[in-house]
Order: sequence, then C-alpha cells, then structure tokens
Amino acid sequence: MEAERKVSAENEEERRFKRICVFCGSRTGYKSAFSDAALELGKFMVERKIDLVYGGGSLGLMGLISQTVLNGGCHVLGVIPETLLPREVSGETFGEVKRVADMHERKSTMFEHADAFIALPGGYGTMEEVVEVIAWSQLGIHDKPVGLFNVEGYFNSLLRLFDKGVEDGFIQNSASQIVLIADTAQELIKKMEEANKS
Ligand code: AMP
Repeated sequence: MEAERKVSAENEEERRFKRICVFCGSRTGYKSAFSDAALELGKFMVERKIDLVYGGGSLGLMGLISQTVLNGGCHVLGVIPETLLPREVSGETFGEVKRVADMHERKSTMFEHADAFIALPGGYGTMEEVVEVIAWSQLGIHDKPVGLFNVEGYFNSLLRLFDKGVEDGFIQNSASQIVLIADTAQELIKKMEEANKS
C-alpha cells in the first residue's frame, strides 16, 4: 500500500509541468471575466510552481499573466521579435526576455521551452499560435498537451468549426481529441497532466 502510494506520487511528479507556454490576447477584451481568468491561471501556476513561457510584452492578458507569475516567484520567459520590442508595440517587458529575429523564431523558441500549451481568449495571434501547436501534434511533431481555457464559452465557435472539420472529413476523429478544454485553470491543468505522457 505504502509502495503504491509512493509510485503514484512519483507518477504525479513526473506528469507535473515545469513550464507552460500561454498564448493569450494582447488586449484584455471587453469582459472582466477574461482578465479574471488570466489572473486565475497565473495564480494557479504559481501554486503549482509552474514557470511561464509567453510572447513577451505587457499588453492585455499577456501583461496580467506574466506579472502574476513573476510576482508569485516563478520564472517568466518572454520571447519577443526585434520588430515588436519597441515599448509602444509590446509594452514594458517582464521577467527574462529572449530577443529573436522574427515571428517564426519566436514560435519555435516558445515551443521548445514549454512542455505544454494553454490558450486563453485572444485574437488572431492567439488563434494562430494555438492552432499551429494542434496541427503539429496531429502530425506527430510533438505530444505536449494543448489546452483551451474556455472562459465564458469564448472558444465555442472555434470548437464547433473543429467538429465541422471532423463531420465533413477534414479532421480525423482521433485528432479531435488533441485539444483539452475546461473553464477553470485547475480543471484544465489537471486534465492536461493526466494526458501528459512524459
Ligand atoms: P492577439 O491574440 O492577436 O492579441 O495576439 C496575441 C498573441 O500573439 C500572443 O500570444 C503573442 O505571442 C503574440 N502577440 C501579438 N501581439 C503582440 C504584442 N504586441 N506584443 C507581444 N506579443 C504579441
């Protein structure tokens, strides 16, 4: 019994994420629930001692989550292309900042440094980033868990489009299981850790 408990604790520790890459809006959106969710996720990551990788900059939800994780004592790595570095574009930068040449290098650097990905609500940038890691998972390039923090159903329309892809034969049913979804940070990370094979 004692040995079993030890194995399960070790298993849990192995599945725990060290660094999560969060994609999220460079704006806060119109509902306070979006900012609340960014703070909730940041606080939960601190509680679980999970470091943050993100797109750098302090605007919108990006600023909220990076400040929360940094103030909580965890490491924050912001990856920002030279072109976005000017303060008026990125805002002030928090934590360790890695400058890269362009958007492609930024995405590959964020990808390499993280062992899981979460998208909070955001715009084209967020959607593009999260769909890319889903597509890479489908191609077998990685098996890092991908989660959508579905704050107030923000991603429902995107999820319906994914279902339509399955229905019309463009997305395999098995690939539709790649994305994990929850509307609280705790539930989402729990689901993602359960799915974590490392
Ligand atoms: P969006 O959802 O269109 O606001 O874009 C946010 C996502 O794209 C983030 O996850 C960032 O990686 C990247 N991004 C877009 N705009 C900026 C910016 N001004 N500063 C830093 N990163 C940005």
